[in-house]
Amino acid sequence: MSSFKEKDPEVLNILNKELKRQQGNLELIASENFTDPLVMKAQGSVFTNKYAEGYPYKYRKSGELDYNLYGRYYGGCEFIDEGEKLAIERVKKLFGAEHANVQPHSGSQANMAVYYTLLEPGDLVFGLDLSHGGHLTHGHPLSFSGKYFKIFHYTVDPKTEVINYDQLRKWAVEEKPRMIIAGASAYPRKLDFAKFKEIADEVGAYLMVDMAHIAGLIAAGLHENPVPYADMVTSTTHKTLRGPRGGFVLTKEKYRRDLDRVVFPGLQGGPLEHVILAKAVAFKLALEPEFKDYQKKVVDNAKTLAEALKREGFRLVSGGTDTHLMLVDLRPKKVTGKKLEKALDKAGITVNKNTIPFDPEKPFVTSGIRIGTPAMTTRGMGKDEMVKIASFIRRVAENIENEDEIAKVRDEVKELTDQFPLYPNVKYE
Ligand SMILES: *Cc1c(COP(=O)(O)O)cnc(C)c1O
Repeated sequence: MSSFKEKDPEVLNILNKELKRQQGNLELIASENFTDPLVMKAQGSVFTNKYAEGYPYKYRKSGELDYNLYGRYYGGCEFIDEGEKLAIERVKKLFGAEHANVQPHSGSQANMAVYYTLLEPGDLVFGLDLSHGGHLTHGHPLSFSGKYFKIFHYTVDPKTEVINYDQLRKWAVEEKPRMIIAGASAYPRKLDFAKFKEIADEVGAYLMVDMAHIAGLIAAGLHENPVPYADMVTSTTHKTLRGPRGGFVLTKEKYRRDLDRVVFPGLQGGPLEHVILAKAVAFKLALEPEFKDYQKKVVDNAKTLAEALKREGFRLVSGGTDTHLMLVDLRPKKVTGKKLEKALDKAGITVNKNTIPFDPEKPFVTSGIRIGTPAMTTRGMGKDEMVKIASFIRRVAENIENEDEIAKVRDEVKELTDQFPLYPNVKYE
């Protein structure tokens, strides 16, 4: 086999630059993580060569799912089947689910599969407002969700900045949605799935839980598991769960056949079996006791960082966090999310600007940033480092035009990241 060095130095150069960027920066994007080298190995394996439309099982006429029946539209899938079966059985065990479809290419595709399994176009869906923490697939006008379904965006309470379930119930009774989505991309507090379920039942709506962000916390028992409550649960595999980039759907037996038909052939063709194999590896790692310790550190680090940021003079949406992420209101520092994101980038600190609830700024400017601890916790950072990071962020926010100070922070960031090696054995050549 040929080397990049010989055959494609341009790609080699890009790969090495990205590796170095990941190694030398403080990665605080709440939806990102550093996956295990074994996950990357599975993803880069010979599984990428195989077409495997269909499933590693077939349904009997009686509706029974049978792994002994050949469910693929191509020959030669016996080992691919073993890999996908492993992923399915492991994720079912991890979350206590009756059925899992591990083929969705991403979280968005997983969500699309649920909409098209449970709803008809034009049905009314409840989703958390995007500027209050919801996701694009919860009803953005340019997303399939907002284009083909009616959306009612519920909001957080203006005072507490968390979901007010009495208010949510009132809205649901008035509007009569067909489906309620619980789940968010930028919501720092726990979700009360029992309350969501009660409201959904009262109005005759399906309950879909999108746990893309918090799946790792749930797997570790640090957040309530939505599986007993929801008709369908969707997730990504690459956020707190720390697997390859991808998605999956968990559901009950009564919906499994319809769901499978929507994912394939409804929405996708050949599944990414190399990614599915990598998902199997990630699920195995998530079943191990060390994963619980890791998630606990993620949450502890988030609490420490949130408290430190408050001491540095920032305001936190809802006053803090009980998950892996926090939303920082920058108005006390008189700087916008857009400006601070850019200045932090120069200092080697990667965050994303984010609207805060009832944000007076436009979504492209914002009054906030979103910060998460999963990636830095994977690198081994703890309490002391969180306190340092809070002070870096304060220094940049207060010296937004001061190139010298930002350069000083950049040097200190480099010093810090050097103490926590990332992928020391990954070499591209
Ligand atoms: C990240 C995310 C998704 C989408 O995942 P992609 O893999 O980026 O498509 C869906 N829902 C929520 C709540 C998310 O945070």
